[in-house]
Amino acid sequence: MSSFIYADNAATTRISDEVLEAMLPYLQEQYGNASALYRLGRTAHSALEQSRRQIAELLGASPMELFFTSGGTESNNWALKGTVHRLARQGKRHIVTSAVEHHSVLHAAAALEREGVSVTYLPVDAVGRVSPQAVESALRPDTALVSIMYANNEIGTIQPVAEIGAVCHAHGVLFHTDAVQAAGTLPIRVKEQNIDLLSLSAHKFYGPKGVGLLYCRRDAYPATLLDGGAQERGHRAGTENVALAVGMAKALELACQDRAAKNGAIAALRDEVQEGLLRIHDSRLNGDPDHRLPGTLNVSFAGVDGQSLLFRLDLAGLAASSGSACASGSLSPSHVLLALGVPYELAHGSLRISLGKYNTKEDASAIVRIVTDTVAELRGEPSPYR
Ligand SMILES: *Cc1c(COP(=O)(O)O)cnc(C)c1O
Repeated sequence: MSSFIYADNAATTRISDEVLEAMLPYLQEQYGNASALYRLGRTAHSALEQSRRQIAELLGASPMELFFTSGGTESNNWALKGTVHRLARQGKRHIVTSAVEHHSVLHAAAALEREGVSVTYLPVDAVGRVSPQAVESALRPDTALVSIMYANNEIGTIQPVAEIGAVCHAHGVLFHTDAVQAAGTLPIRVKEQNIDLLSLSAHKFYGPKGVGLLYCRRDAYPATLLDGGAQERGHRAGTENVALAVGMAKALELACQDRAAKNGAIAALRDEVQEGLLRIHDSRLNGDPDHRLPGTLNVSFAGVDGQSLLFRLDLAGLAASSGSACASGSLSPSHVLLALGVPYELAHGSLRISLGKYNTKEDASAIVRIVTDTVAELRGEPSPYR
């Protein structure tokens, strides 16, 4: 089989041609160090600051509140560790997060626990939502930070971030959201949504890998994670990667254009795949059908091993995932599905299809055909398509 279908856009996306084009001058002739004072450096510096201003406008933030990082993982680590390290001096040694966060939040929280910080992991309901009331009940006088993701990477469930942020602010607690999955498709207005810290990563919205951003409200700058030079106004050391920053700004600009129309088109394909996959017997949808990212679909098949399924889908030319990319390398079922209360056996047989702007109607019908055939084959049953 020679065709190849990419249905793992929640893991990463293919860079847009326009993004690559915008970046190239800063990898080639405009290679200056943005901190250098001669013209080559000043050109790089002005491209960096132009990118920061552009992103600030798209997020409703001020440029001085944005810090470029190496990606979502660094931004999440910085938000959690840096905020706690700053506020621990005032006796605040407690954070609140959820059981369905990305590992870069959960493992940063675990690292803080080893330092003696206390962490509350909030449960979620059957579709993966965190309730603002549960957040409120978890707050304590020593709570430094609440960190709840905007949208989940495995099941696509969207959290009520503005409401959660309002609860935090009513109690004088900072609110961080991991918006890495959300940024490509959902609107972000940090002030209106009561967000104090926010993480982004460009490669999840058709930008380059290895660049992200931490938005920090002006009075909520975390303690530094990387010490060194005075880059990023002394808050994040390391020579600025101008090309990557330019790429992220371009990618976010493109993501914000015609959002509703593009989301509608992707959701229509996703719904077609969903309908087809739920026709397979003993299958179940994981996640929130009403509050969900447009391209994400997570389905479990009873009696099917997720790893074998992915392996055979790959042989058939379909790139998909069993959930998070990190969880796919290990044999333990997804922490997200277990938190929803999906039985262990069903969590083992889960498949995440995540569609993006390059997917076509032909892809959608081929995905249904390939998955239906493969699930039947693994169950030792005849397939309707063969
Ligand atoms: C991909 C992802 C991350 C990590 O981002 P990187 O830039 O790959 O480090 C964090 N959170 C969520 C929700 C993600 O999907």
